Amino acid sequence: MADSARLIDPLGRIHTNLRISVTDRCNIRCFYCMPDENIRFKPRHELLSFEEIERFVRVVAPLGVNKLRLTGGEPLVRADLPALIAKLASIDGIRDIALTTNGILLAEQAQALKDAGLARVNISLDTLTEETFRRIARREGLDRVLAGIAAAKRVGFEQIRLNAVAIRGITEPEIVPLARFARDGDMEMRFIEFMPLDAEEQWQHDQVLSGEEIRRQIEAAIGPLEPAPRPDPSQPASDFQYADGSGTVGFINPVSQPFCADCNRLRLTAEGQIRNCLFSTVEWDARAVLRGGGSDEELAQLVREAVWAKKPGHGIDSSEFIRPQRAMYQIGG
Ligand code: SAM
Ligand code: SF4
Repeated sequence: MADSARLIDPLGRIHTNLRISVTDRCNIRCFYCMPDENIRFKPRHELLSFEEIERFVRVVAPLGVNKLRLTGGEPLVRADLPALIAKLASIDGIRDIALTTNGILLAEQAQALKDAGLARVNISLDTLTEETFRRIARREGLDRVLAGIAAAKRVGFEQIRLNAVAIRGITEPEIVPLARFARDGDMEMRFIEFMPLDAEEQWQHDQVLSGEEIRRQIEAAIGPLEPAPRPDPSQPASDFQYADGSGTVGFINPVSQPFCADCNRLRLTAEGQIRNCLFSTVEWDARAVLRGGGSDEELAQLVREAVWAKKPGHGIDSSEFIRPQRAMYQIGG
């Protein structure tokens, strides 16, 4: 593809990866993401329809977007998600569709998702104990998440990853059990540093449990880890393999080791706003173009503008850092 057709920003980062949030709703209330109560979800008519999402992807695929990830909120609370996946899987140029889910509704939907063309799933799993699950999610449901993981394995997705948000004071006792659980189940475990995107704005820098600290704990308890090959330089995780060859652990360290220089990701919120960064404080209104009779070229131009405006980095550690007004569930993680 000619460079002029691609989604390139001023730093030369080529955007090929789109995260699509399909809802801001969720069936649990993780404290690092959502408020516990008094949430004003977007009314249904404000969310993009499946047809609108499909049109957006049909416009960006010729611009080089080839990987999609569906997220939310909790994407599996959106009715009939397999129908959307089937539409997206049929678009020329889309070579990978993945999903990030809390796993609660996965047991009942795994087969339909796979049949529709979903290749990979990331399942959030911060703990293996119900008590800690309740403390984090402020709802019950660990047994359902574990059933979802088992179902994902049964139906045979190409890849299943487990994601844990790492929070000092909560995650330390979970690290080794989670790493063992993933290794025994032949799944990759990824630890994600806690980012300032919680709706209640309680994030403190000292709650960030760094990937480096987690790695040391795993090595002490399970065995040495070696850097794994990095086939995709834009991947956010630093992956490690156990030296005995029996599994992989990844670390997503946006706070301690920002990976903005290689970022190739764009986001579309559930109500159709384009974001060029999780931490963006500006959005580009794709829904207005989609619903206002705009042409495909106008939509493509809007995406190009969003990409061109991308900042070099999120600057969490800078004194000028401004938290985005939206919390994680409203952006799409
Ligand atoms: N509901 C789905 C889930 O939990 O997997 C998908 C949406 S969730 C916003 C996507 C990912 O973002 C999850 O892995 C979640 O743990 C992570 N996440 C949410 N808030 C976060 C925060 N403040 N810092 C780091 N990761 C966060
Ligand atoms: Fe829901 Fe996912 Fe946010 Fe947890 S992280 S509240 S599961 S959207």
